[in-house]
Amino acid sequence: MPFDPSSAGETATTCPYCGVGCGVLVKPAPGGESAVVRGDPSHPANLGRLCSKGSALGETLSLDDRILQPSIHGETVSWDTAIQTVANGFSETIAKHGPDSVAFYVSGQILTEDYYVANKLMKGFIGSSNIDTNSRLCMASSVVGHKRAFGTDTVPGCYTDLESADLIVMVGSNFAWCHPVLHQRVLAAKEARGTKLIVIDPRQTATTEAADLHLAIKPGSDVALFNWLLWKLSQSSAMNEAFVGHHTNGLSDALIAACEISDLLCRDLTGLTVDELNAFFELVRDTRKTMTIYSQGVNQSSAGSDKVNAILNTHLITGRIGKPGMGPFSITGQPNAMGGREVGGLANQLAAHMDHSAGDLDRVARFWNAPNMTSGQGLKAIDMFDAALAGQVKAIWIMATNPVVSMPQADKVKAALEACPLVVVSDVVQDSDTVQLADVVLPATAWGEKTGTVTNSERRISRQRSFLTPPGEARHDWQALSSVASAMGFEGFDYDAPHEIYSEHAALSGFENEDTRDFDISAHKDISAQAYEDLQPFQWPLPAEEHKQGTEVDGHHRFFADGNFYTPDRKARFIAVSFKPAKVLPDPDFPLVLNTGRVRDHWHTMTRTGKTGRLSSHLAEPFLEMHPDTANVLGLEKADLVRVTSRSGAAVLRLLVTDRVRPGDVFAPMHWTGRFSSDGRIDALVGAAHDPLSGQQESKFTPVSVAPLGTEWYGFGVFKSEPSKDVLSKFDYWCLARAEGGWRLECAGSGKSADAVSALLGPDLHAQLSLPNGGLRAATFADDELEAAIIISKEGPVEADRTHLAALLAAELDDAARAGVLAGRAASGQSAGPIICSCEGVGQTTLINTIHNGARTVTDLGKCTKAGTNCGSCKPELKRLIADHAPQQAAQVDKEAV
Ligand code: SF4
Repeated sequence: MPFDPSSAGETATTCPYCGVGCGVLVKPAPGGESAVVRGDPSHPANLGRLCSKGSALGETLSLDDRILQPSIHGETVSWDTAIQTVANGFSETIAKHGPDSVAFYVSGQILTEDYYVANKLMKGFIGSSNIDTNSRLCMASSVVGHKRAFGTDTVPGCYTDLESADLIVMVGSNFAWCHPVLHQRVLAAKEARGTKLIVIDPRQTATTEAADLHLAIKPGSDVALFNWLLWKLSQSSAMNEAFVGHHTNGLSDALIAACEISDLLCRDLTGLTVDELNAFFELVRDTRKTMTIYSQGVNQSSAGSDKVNAILNTHLITGRIGKPGMGPFSITGQPNAMGGREVGGLANQLAAHMDHSAGDLDRVARFWNAPNMTSGQGLKAIDMFDAALAGQVKAIWIMATNPVVSMPQADKVKAALEACPLVVVSDVVQDSDTVQLADVVLPATAWGEKTGTVTNSERRISRQRSFLTPPGEARHDWQALSSVASAMGFEGFDYDAPHEIYSEHAALSGFENEDTRDFDISAHKDISAQAYEDLQPFQWPLPAEEHKQGTEVDGHHRFFADGNFYTPDRKARFIAVSFKPAKVLPDPDFPLVLNTGRVRDHWHTMTRTGKTGRLSSHLAEPFLEMHPDTANVLGLEKADLVRVTSRSGAAVLRLLVTDRVRPGDVFAPMHWTGRFSSDGRIDALVGAAHDPLSGQQESKFTPVSVAPLGTEWYGFGVFKSEPSKDVLSKFDYWCLARAEGGWRLECAGSGKSADAVSALLGPDLHAQLSLPNGGLRAATFADDELEAAIIISKEGPVEADRTHLAALLAAELDDAARAGVLAGRAASGQSAGPIICSCEGVGQTTLINTIHNGARTVTDLGKCTKAGTNCGSCKPELKRLIADHAPQQAAQVDKEAV
């Protein structure tokens, strides 16, 4: 009999973070502000595994900072007033300026049912296609690539392919940090069956640690590399003439474009050596079961769509698609980017994988009984905010996303919202850069309160189930949307429960489908409330009658093994693509190339992960990775604060000097917001360049300059209570991070450092030390507990054991410990060092000491310290520490998968 989680007081739901879509079992603690969370062993996406973020979900449920009531211009109002205000505002705007004067900007974080209602309201009833989503920033280029090649937006493969592939090529993905549970599956397969791994990425990352071949290509040169590969494959035994002949069109044109990339030109454009290129080609040529996994490094580019098709071309020419262990695999960043694509949450899609063709528009209009069906495509994200700035969009409703941080040219987006006459924001946290600009704020439900479905990267639909009562007056997004629709006078939005929306969505997917569309879950068109509640994770398609599409192999549905693509002649299309350099190239004013991406323990804009000290301890500050040669030329030292400037904006970041980036390249994380740092919004620097087809921005190639911030003093402090923004605003730079018992603060400024100390600690210092070089150390206590401590340095960045000082906030201190606070570091041998394993709280110093004492494998480290024994997300870093700190010959025997 299958395990029933409810019998153990657990709720089976889905992790709200990345597109892996792991199943989790949650047992809330009394009071509901924490929970015990474990991986669901029965969920096919993770089989019980979780990464560091998923493991810490139970620590992110507190209600501090939650929006609990609707408000208008900061004044609390009733839901009725808020709904009527939004409805009137949208109706009046449409009446005066037409339906294209309003817009929705939604999110890959919302559930499919929310998405469905938003899309229906905008496209069928308001009569515009101005609904777009932050998923545009994540995977829109993959959608274009799929549709160009396959005729529809289809991800052909399954996660089980990871276990049956012989070669996995990862392009533009720090898989180990961004999709950690799938990375663990790859590493397990590598260990079990010797799967080869090639990683194509300009940077060395936790993912490249495990690669058999790392191709550190020049940023943006993917099309050149894959065109070269296509040409070489066409001349090799890997060319599958039968598949190409029966199931494809357009190879000749694709080869004419590809043959422009000679061996010499490929070396020049990619920066790779002959040996590297040959090793890549030979592995691909000789390995039938080859998967190519790609992600934001491919999509977020002004040539993103062409990069996707360059990859797809290599699978079409070899016929390696739709069978176990082979095929291209786009991995989405967000938990429900796929669900959004299914309901048509992008401005250039219609619902249920339909388009804006006359036939599709008519079909959907009839199904919805829509009075004002849209007629053409709407504004994509970048265009939408440009239109708001230009005064063309006059009312916008933003749901579950923070575009003032995450959009390219984020400062311009801020200006657009300031200029827009009506800004409605549905969100969970008050202190979001976008909520601050709202006219109307609607309190939304959060993970744990929401109930509905999400779709992960392998087309698997899972339930997100609620285990908490919505706090205050928070409501589901579909409820707010339905209420506004009804208040605007529209019929067809009288939903009482999410299963009613889901069944309508399922019915539409099968409506006049007849195997013309890949997305079909019409088997659920009459789903009951109980069946919806009990719904087990399943992969689409799931048509009402017998399967008509794709092929079932080893219990999994795959598309295209036998062709049958969704083009008019059911053949796939090779797309002829040519290498194009990035739209904006470095010049003497902006000589470096900025790449952006994620870190291991944070998610998006940190509204959830920023709540836990555990997840904030791994990397507590926004940073800039720079090669030592570049730092040398610029006269910069490690841990300097630097101002990074592009044509669009600027940020202040901590310098991390490392050979993990190429000379001339720099890398910065994308998570920090005005909530946690003075100047960490990296998307303020990303420019206007974007892919002409997908509208996706160029996040991986921004020309920048870097200069020292030049402050008179640097500070580091720990605080039981969060320092106020009024105080922080006096500094040139600050960055806050949660610690287990309070907060960590990095700051820097000019003027008297003593003034900073008294602003942060108040006048009653219990311990103080003035140093001859102008530095200061001070602390305050309450009984035997540390209230706050600060260290100011006038000789460069503060040198202190930050982990030790932060840990003191949660400790009872005896006299000796109190006296030791001002030392800024633990007594000899007592420091753990910076945290590497977040789950078990194991620090770098502890790990290095353990290696010096004989640990030679990740398993050894786990046995001695418990590091890496829970989620395993830190294993690549453990392996690197062993490589760096163990004697050479001993390190080489570490053959285990990490
Ligand atoms: Fe959540 Fe981690 Fe699984 Fe992604 S890999 S869904 S973040 S537990």
